Order: sequence, then structure tokens, then C-alpha cells
Amino acid sequence: TTFIGGSIAGLGDIYGQVQKAIGSSERVLEILDEETEEYESSQEERNVAGAISFEEVVFHYPTRPEYRVLDGINFSIAPGEKVALAGHSGAGKSTIIQLLLKFYALSKGDILLDGQSISHWDPQKLRKNIGIVPQEVLLFGGSIRENIRYAKPGASEDEIIAAATQANAWEFIQSFPEGLDTLVGERGIKLSGGQRQRIAIARAILKDPAILVLDEATSSLDAASEALVQEALDQLMKGRTTIIIAHRLATIRKVDRIYVLKAGKIIEEGNHEELSALPDGHYANLVNLQFADASSKPLD
Ligand code: ADP
Ligand code: MG
Repeated sequence: TTFIGGSIAGLGDIYGQVQKAIGSSERVLEILDEETEEYESSQEERNVAGAISFEEVVFHYPTRPEYRVLDGINFSIAPGEKVALAGHSGAGKSTIIQLLLKFYALSKGDILLDGQSISHWDPQKLRKNIGIVPQEVLLFGGSIRENIRYAKPGASEDEIIAAATQANAWEFIQSFPEGLDTLVGERGIKLSGGQRQRIAIARAILKDPAILVLDEATSSLDAASEALVQEALDQLMKGRTTIIIAHRLATIRKVDRIYVLKAGKIIEEGNHEELSALPDGHYANLVNLQFADASSKPLD
């Protein structure tokens, strides 16, 4: 029974968190296999401080053994710090997150959580400590209530409403005649991108993880939604170690540190001002190219 329960819970978790990353059913099967492994770890599911270190991490995807996707990645994030990963498409940003979530084994090196190798962690327990707000939020067919509380199935009505309120979602949910019972997904109502983001934020608030991963939407949300999403994210990030795959200048300016990736290596690190000031720096060029257009916001 633990086997079945564990698998179903694991699959739900995976679907909710990294739907976009799962390209094939083959991949799901791989993950299920992994979920059934036994781990002797006695780590607590909660009470993680949220310190993360990558130590000389080298990685090849199993399907492409000849290609080093990550080539000696080193960084350390203290509990509660906010960092951003920046770099062109294909640089390795999402792969770093996949490895932190233990979807693949490392080729070399180690990843530490609170100073302990994650190799000893049960992947499901590990993932309970990491909340994800993905680039494109896909809700499953069901009610808004179900979509919010699935990271914490036992959540009370009050907890769900509190999370929705903090996520700036309660107002629009209440505007529907059916409120939290409103059906979403294929057979339900169609929510805007910003509304889906806020549902995902409410979900993450309810999960209350020590670590947060935000993969920012590349296409901008409607202006009204944008401000509400940003405000909700700022709330959510408070007191949590946060890694942002940043596409927006507004976000990247606020983080403690930016790691600039190029072809699987960290080639620059510093805050926005420091990196912008590097003559002919990769980040400086990236900002000029990418963010100037994408965010349609002035650079200064
Ligand atoms: P980013 O998020 O910075 O755009 P990714 O981490 O997604 O970059 O990708 C880094 C490199 O790994 C790219 O060359 C990409 O094609 C490759 N890659 C990503 N996912 C897979 C996969 N599942 N199998 C094989 N190669 C992959
Ligand atoms: Mg990516």
C-alpha cells in the first residue's frame, strides 16, 4: 500500500510541478521507477533551512552521453537568499533545477541541501521542500479548490482561502458564481495566464516550502495581472531560499546574486549593477538584447 500511495502522490506532484519538463510517457515511467526505490534517509520533510550548494556538478543527459550539459557548476545559496539564473536558451538553467529536484543522477560532483548530499534523500521527500511556480501553469481538470490544495490534501477551507488571498487570487475566485468550486481545465472555465499563475502561487503558499523555484513567464501577462502576480510572488518569496530563472529585468534587479550561464558553465556572478558594469560582459549583452525587448520596460 505504501508503494501505491507513494507512486500516486509522486506522480501528482510531478505533474503539478514540472508538467512542462515531462516530454514523454517514457519519462514518466523512468520517474515512477525512481520513486519506488528505498531510501534509508531519516530526513525530516520539514524543518529544512534551505541552504543549497552545487559542487563541481557535471552532467550529461542519459540520451546524449557525448554532450556535457553542465560542466563544473559551483555555487552556494544561503537560507533565505534570492538568486537568479540568467543565460541564453540552452545554457543549462532548467537542467540545474531538474538536478536539484533529483530527476537525474549527476555525472560528477554533488548537490548539498543544508550541507548534506541530496543523494541520500528520498526524491519525494526532497521535493516536498521545494515549491515551483512554472513558466506555464497547467491546471488539471477539476475545481479551483482541488487545484490549490493538492500540494496539501488535508488543507482546511480557511487555509485555502488564506492562501488564495495572499496570492491575490481570492478576488477573482470570488467573482465566479461557484467560487472555489468553479471547474477549470478542458471542461471548465478558461483562466487567463495571470490567473493561472496566481493559482500556482496559492498552491505554493499552502505547500509552505523552504525552497522556491520560479521559472518566469517569458511572454508578458496582461498589465493588471502582472502587478498582482509580482506582488504575490514577493510575498511568497519572503523567508524562502529562492532560485529564479529570470526573464524579466524587474525581477533580476532585486535578487541578491545573479549566476550567468553559458554553455553549461557559470561565467559571471554578481548583482545587476556589478554585472551590468562589466565591459563587454555576457550579462550586460544579455540585458541589452533580451530584456530590453522582452520586458518593454526602460532599463534605468
Ligand atoms: P535552458 O533552461 O538554459 O534553456 P536547458 O537546461 O533546458 O537550458 O538545456 C541545456 C541543454 O540540454 C540544451 O542543449 C538542451 O537541448 C539539452 N537538453 C535539455 N533537456 C534535455 C533532455 N531531456 N535530453 C537531452 N538533452 C536535453
Ligand atoms: Mg529552460
